[in-house]
Formats: sequence, structure tokens, C-alpha cells
Amino acid sequence: MDVVTIGETMALFTPDMSGMMRYAKSFSMKLGGAESNVAIGLSRLGHRTGWISKVGNDEFGKAMLSFISGEGVDVSRVKVDPSAPTGIYFKELRRADDVRVTYYRKGSAASTLSKLDLDEEYIAKAKYLHITGITPALSESCAEMIDEAVNIAKRSGVKVVFDPNLRKKLWNEEKARETLSELAAKADIVLPGIAEGEFIFGESDPEKLGQLFLNHGVSIVVLKLGAEGAWYFSKEKNVKVAGFPVERVIDPVGAGDGFAAGFLSGLLDSLSPEQAVERGNAVGALVTMVNGDVEGLPERDEIEAFINRKNDDVH
Ligand code: ATP
Repeated sequence: MDVVTIGETMALFTPDMSGMMRYAKSFSMKLGGAESNVAIGLSRLGHRTGWISKVGNDEFGKAMLSFISGEGVDVSRVKVDPSAPTGIYFKELRRADDVRVTYYRKGSAASTLSKLDLDEEYIAKAKYLHITGITPALSESCAEMIDEAVNIAKRSGVKVVFDPNLRKKLWNEEKARETLSELAAKADIVLPGIAEGEFIFGESDPEKLGQLFLNHGVSIVVLKLGAEGAWYFSKEKNVKVAGFPVERVIDPVGAGDGFAAGFLSGLLDSLSPEQAVERGNAVGALVTMVNGDVEGLPERDEIEAFINRKNDDVH
């Protein structure tokens, strides 16, 4: 495997109308999960990915397994739990600037994941282990599992990539800050947004934040800046890579996961730091142009054409 990731994916329901959800008569169903989004993004770019998780023995779990494996992601380490349901959530579009998310995930199958669900050899054979700050917020056993997965990766020389993905609804703030800070310190690569960096370190200046992460023990930090692109920081290099212009953002959710997939794909292809961040920016931009978290994730020929088009425009 190139990248193994661990986390919960849920069925996501969105009313087919805006306004108060209490009046909704019909909903569209999609799947939502940061980690599986990254796995799908990498798979579309031709990399080998595996997703570790647990789903309920129900229609949503079955839909998930079939969709995610259909995208070329290895789901052989996803367990089916007969005694807990697959988590679901709703995205209520009250107005364009008021989107509310309601989770029904407490006690979900994935929240019962524990270190017993980890296959050491499976993780040890990967090049990268991708984790997010969502999983340790789900339950004590999930937090322990993430710690153990990181320990396995460290023992086996697998690089740990951590996206803090702060979800304030899932945590007590202090606990969140402590856990995210600890995981960042153990990770080789951290992919925060400015707001997440500020949450962890109380600093919002990108260059100071980059330095704080490096001093914290991280080898590579990429600070995501939305439309502006991203800053790359390591001991050897600090560079800001401009984002791709997007005429109209249709749906910004999932851009961060797309970025992670594009950036990791660049590292797997041994691109330079600038080129890897550029690929991350390109995937992130393409994701914002399409409705849905994974629908806009490009295949390899599309990403190359998209990047070349911009570079041709510039030169
Ligand atoms: P998410 O909403 O998925 O959690 P995030 O906050 O982790 O996203 P963002 O900074 O919003 O991350 O987006 C990730 C990357 O996607 C950016 O660094 C950029 O490359 C690209 N991107 C996001 N929004 C835009 C945009 N409006 N125009 C161009 N590129 C964008």
C-alpha cells in the first residue's frame, strides 16, 4: 500500500430544498468521511490505498463498502459490526451562509473501533499512515487506537500524516487542544488550516505558525490557505505556493481532503515540495468546483491537464 488511512465514514443526508430542515420532504444521500475521501482521491490518481474502519451490518454500511471499494480502495480491513449502526449525519442548508450539520454518530459502529481492530502488518507495509483529529474525538477506544496506529507506524518506519480536522462539536475544547497537539508532535507531516494552527498554538501568522509546528517536532507542515493556496515549511525550505483561480465555488467542503490526496500523491511521485503543494492546490481547487466531497476528485490525466493549463497561461 502507498497510503493506509483510518476513520469513520457516515451516510450524509441533505434536504433537496434550502430553509429549515423540518419542512424537507426528500433528501439526497451521499457518503461523508475525511479519511475515505483522501483514500479515494489518491486512488483516482493511481496510488494504492487502504481504509481501516468499521461499519454497521446495514444498508448504509453496505453502500459504503461497495462505493469505496468500487473506487479502488482496499476495504479488506473494514469490519462489519452486527451490533452497532453505521453513523449518519444531516447537512441543513438554511441559507447559503448558514449551513448546519447534525450528527447521529454516538454509538456508531466506527466509534467502537479499538486497537484490537488494527492489523499491525497492514500498517507496517504502507509508505504513509494518514490520520485525522476526528477519530480520537469519537471515543476513548478510538483515541487509543489512533495512538497505537501511530506507534506501529513509528516502529515500522511508516511516515505519519496528520490532518487536525478540528470538529468543535465533537470535543471538549481543552481535550481537543491537548490531543491535537500531541498527535501533531508525533506526526512527520501535518496539514492544518490557519484556524486549526491558531487553535493549537494561539498564533495566526502563517510564518510564525509554520515555525511553531517545526519546533514542535514536525518535519513538514503545510498550512492550507483556502483560495490563496498553501505554505510549505520544513527545515530546508519555506515556500508559499499560490492557489488556482476558481471562478465560482460550488461546494468548498472536501477541498482539504483533496489537498491532502494531491500533496501526498506528489510526495509519492517524488515531486519537489513546490510541485507537490501545487498538485494539492490543484486537487483542492477542482473539488470546490463540484458539488460533493469526492465527486470533483480528478483522475491523473485531468490533474495534469489542469496544472499545465495554468502554467501555460502564466508563461
Ligand atoms: P475543508 O473545508 O475541506 O476542511 P480546509 O479548511 O482543510 O478545507 P482549505 O484551505 O479550505 O482547507 O482548502 C484546501 C486547499 O484547497 C487550499 O489550500 C487550496 O489549495 C484549495 N482551495 C480551497 N478553496 C479554494 C478556492 N476558493 N479557490 C481555489 N482553491 C481553493
